[in-house]
Amino acid sequence: MKNKLFVNVTSAKNRPDYAAELESIKEAGICPFCPDNVKKYLSKIIYREGRHWLIADATYPYKNAKYHFILVHHAHIENASDISEEGWSELKEFVDWICGLKQIKGATLIMRFGDTNCTGASVTHLHASLVSGDGDQKDREPVLTRVG
Ligand SMILES: [Zn+2]
Repeated sequence: MKNKLFVNVTSAKNRPDYAAELESIKEAGICPFCPDNVKKYLSKIIYREGRHWLIADATYPYKNAKYHFILVHHAHIENASDISEEGWSELKEFVDWICGLKQIKGATLIMRFGDTNCTGASVTHLHASLVSGDGDQKDREPVLTRVG
């Protein structure tokens, strides 16, 4: 996969620290979420690893999020259509599990796939974000992200 772009720096232009890291990943020509690299780039807590996914704290959580977990598919795929039935089942299991563990009352599950120019994704390797705002905080600011 030489010369393939695994990251889209433009998607993180409003987050300078993250954009800088993506630029260095782009220069290295590697995929940050492939098994040999993922634990370097997901330096925070990894809660659980299964056969198809791992779930961890997002390294660069969205502003104003109380929780931002990232679910990374182990094998390098870039489209939701490439997730197996078993993979979908495990994804649901992980979402249910972390919501129970953290007693999350409500969350948003975002999975961008395919051409990053259409989605706003920063990494092509299939992953999802599970994000929850602090519903108990009065006058809280919203959690906003790019989805297209
Ligand atoms: Zn990958």
